[in-house]
Amino acid sequence: MTEDHIEGPIGRYWQRLEDGRVQCDICPRECRLNEGQRGLCFVRARRGDAIVLTTYGRSSGFCIDPIEKKPLNHFLPGTPVLSFGTAGCNLTCKFCQNHDMSKARAMDALMDRAPPEAIAEAALRTGCRSVAYTYNDPVIFFEYALDVAEACRARGVKNVAVTAGWIKPAPRREFFAAMDATNIDLKAFTEDFYRRLCTARLSEVLETIEYVHAETDCWLELTTLLIPGHNDSEAEVTRLSEWVLDRLGPDVPLHFSAFHPDFRMLDLPRTPPETLIRAAGIARNLGIHHVYTGNIHHPPTDTTYCPCCGSPLIERDWYSLKAWALGQGGHCRQCGTAIAGIFDDRPGNWGAKRRPVKLAAFADAMARKTEGRPS
Ligand code: SF4
Repeated sequence: MTEDHIEGPIGRYWQRLEDGRVQCDICPRECRLNEGQRGLCFVRARRGDAIVLTTYGRSSGFCIDPIEKKPLNHFLPGTPVLSFGTAGCNLTCKFCQNHDMSKARAMDALMDRAPPEAIAEAALRTGCRSVAYTYNDPVIFFEYALDVAEACRARGVKNVAVTAGWIKPAPRREFFAAMDATNIDLKAFTEDFYRRLCTARLSEVLETIEYVHAETDCWLELTTLLIPGHNDSEAEVTRLSEWVLDRLGPDVPLHFSAFHPDFRMLDLPRTPPETLIRAAGIARNLGIHHVYTGNIHHPPTDTTYCPCCGSPLIERDWYSLKAWALGQGGHCRQCGTAIAGIFDDRPGNWGAKRRPVKLAAFADAMARKTEGRPS
C-alpha cells in the first residue's frame, strides 16, 4: 500500500538498502519499504528516507486493571496497573483475542492523545504501581514505550510489557532494560504453528525468552493460549514444559489459558477446562514450580504453592486475592523457602476491578504545567 499522508517522528532501527528500499530493523520481519509504504504492523512507515512512527503519542485507551490480568502472578500481587495499547501488530495470529486493536487500520481507533509524561503522571496519581504496555504488541511502538517507561521510572512507577517477544537483538536489549516485568506469549512449541497461524518464527521467540531470563533483571512469566487441535496435545505441552525447565529452570511461572473463538478462528470450540488443568498437571509433574490456568474458574490452579512444603501461599479467585500466607520478602511462612518473584510485604487490595481512565485531564494538566499556566 502506498500513501502520501504518512506523518510522525522518525523512528530508530532501520537502514537504507542498496536497492533503494528502507528496511525496518525492529522485528525479524524486516519489512523493506518503498516511499509511502507501511510495514506489516501498519504503524511504522516510510516517509522520505526514514521510517516514521505514525501512532507515536496516541493510544487506543487506558484502563486500570489488576496485575493478575496481564497475567503476572509473581509481580506485586494485588496491585493496580495502568494499561494501554496503540494499534497494529507485527504478528498475524489468526486466533487473535484482541483483534479490534491489533488489527486496527483506521487511526480513529486511537482516540486518546497520550504524551509519555501524562501517562506516567496518570499512573502516579491514580495509585498504580506500574504501567502495562499491552492490548497490542509494544514491540511495534518501541520508541513510544521507551519514552513512557523513562517517565515512569523517574516517578518510581514500574513498567510491564505484554508481548509476543518477536523482536531483533539490538532493540531487544533496550526494550527489556526499560521493563521491570514481562509476560511473553509462548504461543505454541512448533515452527509450523508459528509459520501457519502467526507468520512468525518460534526460534526467535525462544531466543528472546532465554535472553530476558539470563541477561536482564526483568521479571519473566510465560503464557500459552491452548487452542483445541492446534497446540494442546500432551506431546506438545510436554515438549514446551521440558524446554522451560531445561532452559529457564523451575521458577519461571507458566500460564496455560483458554482460547475462545475469535477473529479468523471462529470454527473452533472454546478450550475445555480439562485441557488446561491437564496441561498444568503435566508441567507441574515435570518439575515447574508455578503453573497456572487462565480464562477458566478453577481456584486450585490459580493458587501459588510453596515449592518446598506445598503450603498454599497466595490463593486467588479469578483476579482477586483470597488468602495471603507469604512472609516478609516473599518467603513461605511455614518453611521459610524464598518464592521467586517481586513481592511487597503485604498484598495489594485492588481486587478484580477494571476502571477506564480518561487521559485528557492529565495531558491538559501537564501541558499547563509546561506552559506555566495555572491549573
Ligand atoms: S516492526 Fe513493523 S515495520 Fe518493522 S519489521 Fe516488524 S512488522 Fe515490519
